[in-house]
Amino acid sequence: MGWMNRKKTVKKKDMPVGLWMRCKGCDSMIYKKVVEQKLNVCPECNYHFAISARDRIRLLVDEGTFEELHTELAPRDPLGFPDYPAKLEKAQKGTQLRDGVIVGLGELSGHQIAFGVTEPSFMMGSMGSVVGEKLTLIAEEALNRSLPLIIVSGSGGGARMQEGILSLFQMAKTSAALGRLDRAGGLYISVLTNATMGGAMASFASLGDIAIAEPKALLGFAGPRVVQNTIKKDLPEGFQTSEFLLEHGMIDLISEREKLKDTLAGVLDFCGSVRDRSTIRVRREDIDERRSADPEPD
Ligand SMILES: [Zn+2]
Repeated sequence: MGWMNRKKTVKKKDMPVGLWMRCKGCDSMIYKKVVEQKLNVCPECNYHFAISARDRIRLLVDEGTFEELHTELAPRDPLGFPDYPAKLEKAQKGTQLRDGVIVGLGELSGHQIAFGVTEPSFMMGSMGSVVGEKLTLIAEEALNRSLPLIIVSGSGGGARMQEGILSLFQMAKTSAALGRLDRAGGLYISVLTNATMGGAMASFASLGDIAIAEPKALLGFAGPRVVQNTIKKDLPEGFQTSEFLLEHGMIDLISEREKLKDTLAGVLDFCGSVRDRSTIRVRREDIDERRSADPEPD
């Protein structure tokens, strides 16, 4: 009685517009509300959809503790790249951000942290001068305040080609800042989400003392198709996924989104970070003072 076992198919015309979505992982039609309740994770196959930088902050940083920094930094079009200003404007309107990253100080389960998160929907979270500068500044804040640094990357766009070599500079700059933090004994946890590629993966995203990824995230330098065409060989199954990278020693842990905050708190506890709400607080004046003493070169 094969027909009894047939899966009920939902006809397109029965579906109210906007209530359902198709999962990129398993192709099922899933109810948007359920997905949202599960923090944007597919209830059928555990596919982790991208979430915005603001949602990521809500998810990981204790409520009411986040102090955003360096909001004044805005991108320019140094090379006069065709359509770049229009693309920036569209991304800015869509995300209500000046560029594709948010940085600041806050608390994670009571631990004081320096925090950065790239915005996947701002030109694919790609790293131009502003993203690189803000990540560098937050690494310096972590160093100056002796705070653990957590950066969440959702940067499928890698380095931002519209800023040419200036965006490639950011790879060296962020890496150097993280190197200084490392030499001072600081802790940097890199959280990798789908997708983190190119210049982002080849710099700050892969330099964590501890690298934690969300399940099934695509993580790598060049995309699988490019790699396959270059080496002319079939790629192993699951190539460049979190699971593959864990098996091959590139990352330390995979954490589902639901457990990510607890996982991070556990790592901070393990590394000796103290949960103490009474000590370091953001002092806006300190930051402004330092910035005015060290003006940006024109
Ligand atoms: Zn799914």
